[in-house]
Amino acid sequence: MKFYSTNSPAVHVPFKEAVFNSLPQDKGLYMPVSIPQLNPDFLRNLAKYSLPEIAFEVAKTMLSDAIPEKDLKAIVEDAINFEAPIVKLEEDVYVLELFHGPSLAFKDFGARFMSRVMSYFLRDGEKMLDILVATSGDTGGAVALGFLGVSNTRVTILYPKGKVSPIQEQQLTTNGQNIRAIEIDGTFDDCQALVKQAFVNTELNEKFRLTSANSINIARLIPQAFYYVNAYAQLLREGKSEVVFSVPSGNFGNLGAGLLAWKMGLPVKQFIAATNANDTVPQFLSTGFYKPKPSVATLSNAMDVGNPSNWIRIAHIFQDPEKLKQLISGCSYTDEQTKVAIEAVYKQYNYVVCPHTAIAWQALKDYQKANPDNQAAGVFLSTAHPCKFPEVFSEEIAAKIVVPEQVKELQGKPSLSVALGTDFAGFKKYLLENA
Ligand SMILES: *Cc1c(COP(=O)(O)O)cnc(C)c1O
Repeated sequence: MKFYSTNSPAVHVPFKEAVFNSLPQDKGLYMPVSIPQLNPDFLRNLAKYSLPEIAFEVAKTMLSDAIPEKDLKAIVEDAINFEAPIVKLEEDVYVLELFHGPSLAFKDFGARFMSRVMSYFLRDGEKMLDILVATSGDTGGAVALGFLGVSNTRVTILYPKGKVSPIQEQQLTTNGQNIRAIEIDGTFDDCQALVKQAFVNTELNEKFRLTSANSINIARLIPQAFYYVNAYAQLLREGKSEVVFSVPSGNFGNLGAGLLAWKMGLPVKQFIAATNANDTVPQFLSTGFYKPKPSVATLSNAMDVGNPSNWIRIAHIFQDPEKLKQLISGCSYTDEQTKVAIEAVYKQYNYVVCPHTAIAWQALKDYQKANPDNQAAGVFLSTAHPCKFPEVFSEEIAAKIVVPEQVKELQGKPSLSVALGTDFAGFKKYLLENA
């Protein structure tokens, strides 16, 4: 399987190049030249397979010419070593829990797979990979924990002082080993500016092999297709064969992966693109005009994206824009509606959802109400564990949140973070002196 850039479809590169470049020079995004079909026998027998088996089959269908099957199997099994269960809340309403990985968010699928793929390609004595990441919370945790202990890699994470939640901060700062955390006395934008300057600095690029492990890396997208196929396998075991997925969306990688699974042959009836006030895509789906806008801050802050990078990938999956508009419906919700949804989920099912997940639930319920003829089972994706966003809950609901063991283990650990200002000279000096 070769990959092309959405800006120059005629130029094809191998998987390894797409992974290490992350972003093509022409600022497009990498996509598979053709999207292969899942084996029909595999699809027919899907109900029999476990998540690791499904993950390997999907990965193999996509990547067997880039990585030998035996190695790919080892990568997949090591990366996806946690569950992604669906939980029934009421008839035809299921939540797909994607928060059972180490950082308690679905980004673990992408970050863990990408880290192992990078390490695999590096193993024949190549120079150590230095990953620089700026984070406002969720991405940094997934990348830090995804690369923790992965040989021949080192991660440096920049996060804004006082602007990440306590659990997010612990996930970033207590790791040690090949993970370094830097607390910047500034905003997320300051962190991002420092990382960008490092990438264009000649001295740093001569000394280090720098990469961004960016969220738009193709190696983060592919493993997210695994859990859609696995969710469908679980539905089959429940006696359901039609599915609507509701996806809480920001940069649209998650929905893009669902569409990849669909394009590979997974029979999905409908996707719902559920957003907060950053409604560029729902607006496009209703008006036909794609108008990116500056992002606005909301309670579901991991979805505060006004110009979703992955939308171009989604557009490339469809030859026919009309088909896109049929298969995907969109809706957006305010912070007030998000809070009401969190309360409603708690009252109806005694279940606590994070604000991102609450939006996906509301979108699914509204879709089912508006389309009573569609008898498909509804699955809404839970992208993060609620304990990562403690500030949005009422006291009553907050008291119900069960903090997972892997978070409790972090609690006594000292923070190993280093404090720096927003000046590039200071950051550069730190990198050179701690080579
Ligand atoms: C990153 C993130 C999202 C948005 O996912 P996209 O793939 O960018 O659409 C939603 N919820 C949570 C909790 C996230 O961390």
